[in-house]
Amino acid sequence: MLVFNKKSDLSAFLSPLINQNKSIGFVPTMGALHKGHLSLLEKSLSENDVTVMSIFVNPTQFNNAEDLDKYPRTLNRDVEIMQELSNNIIVYAPEVDDIYEGNTVSESFDYDGLENQMEGKHRPGHFDGVGTIVKRLFEIIQPNKAYFGEKDFQQLQIVKKMVSKNKIPVAVIGCPIHREESGLAMSSRNERLSYEAKEKAAEIFKILKSAKTFFENNSPEATISFVENEFKKFPEFQLEYFEIAEESSLLPVSKKEADKKYRGFIAIFIENIRLIDNISLN
Ligand code: AMP
Repeated sequence: MLVFNKKSDLSAFLSPLINQNKSIGFVPTMGALHKGHLSLLEKSLSENDVTVMSIFVNPTQFNNAEDLDKYPRTLNRDVEIMQELSNNIIVYAPEVDDIYEGNTVSESFDYDGLENQMEGKHRPGHFDGVGTIVKRLFEIIQPNKAYFGEKDFQQLQIVKKMVSKNKIPVAVIGCPIHREESGLAMSSRNERLSYEAKEKAAEIFKILKSAKTFFENNSPEATISFVENEFKKFPEFQLEYFEIAEESSLLPVSKKEADKKYRGFIAIFIENIRLIDNISLN
């Protein structure tokens, strides 16, 4: 398996393949790989001639220095895990300077308001950092298709918007959320949880599923109160937000309309680790 640390080496390797019209699939990640990441890789491997995975903990998308500092970095193990899946994966694992060339700042993006909701509200600058890194990686790798998880549903919508506004020729493909048997959405941040907290964190998806049932016969506002009250039963959790939004605009919903698709979005702390998840409500 090939692992590149420098974009110049990666481009030199990819450019003859691009010239031969080989299809390139791309899976951007921050590493500490789990089965959720692997499900994106498998989809890319099945749909493209060449699959590139990037592993880069992007500093500009972190609004919390401690979160950046403590983010798990496990490159050697990640490479081993990928090798078990396939020898045909091209890994790009750059240092910060290979991407930012000494100027580690974000560009600013206008995502037509998608950036002002939920994660954008609670993590200032986060989506400028995401847009910056995804746009740069697309320029370096020039993929035909790029795979993103619905686990970060707002990010998926933001990347689609960035691609369409900048007319970047990449098909952005959303992939379903991969969960532990307990229902907990897989996440690199789960590695930082104690055994007890990881067990307790299974409540998040249980409550999201109850919210889905509750939402069938109740208003968005009542469903939000329902979720807030459910979490009050568990002092281990600090709920940051639970919101119900329309899927394409991500605007909060006050009244249900028959032809709209709604999703519940949650951000919650347990043992000071911030977890996010979401569920389709109809
Ligand atoms: P990350 O390394 O957390 O930045 O995630 C890299 C990509 O994997 C993003 O597109 C995520 O949405 C996706 N991803 C992370 N966790 C999951 C999961 N549990 N199921 C599906 N995709 C995921």
